Amino acid sequence: MNDKYVQMLDNLYSKLGNKSSSGNRFEIPKVEIVYQGSITIWKNFNRFVELFRRDRDFMIRFFKRELGAPIDDKGEELLIHRRVPAHNLEIKVNSFFELYVRCNECKGPDTHIVEKDGLKLLVCEICGASRVIR
Ligand SMILES: [Zn+2]
Repeated sequence: MNDKYVQMLDNLYSKLGNKSSSGNRFEIPKVEIVYQGSITIWKNFNRFVELFRRDRDFMIRFFKRELGAPIDDKGEELLIHRRVPAHNLEIKVNSFFELYVRCNECKGPDTHIVEKDGLKLLVCEICGASRVIR
């Protein structure tokens, strides 16, 4: 490779880098599920817990409510007592992300939840924006 080519690549990568820093660098993984009769086993639930950095029980309660089905927590995986198509589960994962993880201002995923005056606030670690969540 000649220098010019390397430089061109560098420029290209730095442009891509800038673009992705606006929040696109964060990718939500695909859900891994298997079915056992009418039960949906969510194999990689913990990956989402780690990625979103939200309370595990809080997340399980959300999915129980959203899917309208009882869920057994097996530590590694979740047993959802309903057959849930992967696509439907991904929609729910996405709405959890939008509601409880993503910053509305900079669109980044680096946030945490604080409680203040009886309200739950989602606070962004990058831009400092906060919003009330329910
Ligand atoms: Zn932000």
